[in-house]
Amino acid sequence: MRAIVKPAAGPGLVMRDVPVPRPGLNDVIIKIRKTAICGTDVHINKWDAWAARTIKPPLVIGHEYVGTVEECGDGVTGFTKGQLVTGEGHIVCGHCRNCLAGRRHLCPNTVGVGVNRDGAFAEYVSIPATNVWKVPAGLNTDVVACFDPLGNAVHTTLSFDMVGEDVLITGAGPIGCMAIAVAQHAGARHIVITDVNDSRLELAKKLGPIRAVNVAKENLSDVWHNELGMTEGFDIGLEMSGNSGALNQMIDNMVMGGRIALLGVHPGEATVDWNKIVFKMLHLKGIYGREMFETWYKMTALVLGGMDITPVITHRLPIAEFQQGFDLMGSGRSGKIVLSWD
Ligand code: NAD
Ligand code: ZN
Repeated sequence: MRAIVKPAAGPGLVMRDVPVPRPGLNDVIIKIRKTAICGTDVHINKWDAWAARTIKPPLVIGHEYVGTVEECGDGVTGFTKGQLVTGEGHIVCGHCRNCLAGRRHLCPNTVGVGVNRDGAFAEYVSIPATNVWKVPAGLNTDVVACFDPLGNAVHTTLSFDMVGEDVLITGAGPIGCMAIAVAQHAGARHIVITDVNDSRLELAKKLGPIRAVNVAKENLSDVWHNELGMTEGFDIGLEMSGNSGALNQMIDNMVMGGRIALLGVHPGEATVDWNKIVFKMLHLKGIYGREMFETWYKMTALVLGGMDITPVITHRLPIAEFQQGFDLMGSGRSGKIVLSWD
């Protein structure tokens, strides 16, 4: 089968033939229809310090996808061939304390599809049946291909009660943009999103009625205080940039007792003034992945209920043009890019 492979340590990806995976006893083989490019895939392509530390080539990459059930291991029940599915990319051990308690997203032995084991940028991927998410009828398959990062946005945004709250999102990347739609749907009052990239802020405006602020050009506190009439700052912060300047700016613009969910991954150590967190009595919550499978239920219900994230999908390409997709994604001038395998 054709697959997008990191062939050896170093920059670049190739499309090449690899064996079709065989299902283990409890696995499902999914025939891939569409995949989406994640920032993680861009890091693996470029071969930055994180990729060099983490990836063991040769590896089939990719973890955002939609496809159909092709074949099941002998121990698997409840699926039919041709059924539309996607999958949770974090594969957990099943026997640690958190897994046994049903808190699978907190498993310390998590293995990532397309990161620590072969992924979904291929004609077929194999995952445990317990990681398969059945897609109900009526969903747009481009959107389902983006369920993994949408799940990041949903998990982060629904960490706190949103109704009537003033929300600051730092970072208008694809996930920050999707968080706008989630926050609006969940009942937020004012939503302000920041970035330093105007094309990303333009994209953000298509996701909902928000105030987009380029913090390299505008003063954030002037916006909420003078323009939006907020008196004390943001109730909820969703950190989605992985930039320490953005995190510090968020801390400075929160209300006393405000709640912050942290999704952005920092390239190195990030410094904050901890006394501001102490004296403002802020709550901080780290986010990794999606809750298994509460996030998936909520995300599916939100999309079926009319939450529209399609504006974040800016490019659709055939898989043969994957290199162009990676170049676009790396340029910061795109939203989500969906690659078709049909
Ligand atoms: P992205 O890199 O496309 O977006 C980040 C955005 O932050 C960019 O548009 C960038 O211009 C902006 N930014 C840079 N400096 C800024 C500043 N000072 N203020 C405001 N914005 C600034 O990333 P993405 O794919 O949307 O993902 C968002 C973040 O979440 C990334 O850090 C990613 O690594 C991380 N992530 C975490 C998880 C997890 O499970 N914790 C999962 C997926 C992604
Ligand atoms: Zn576990």
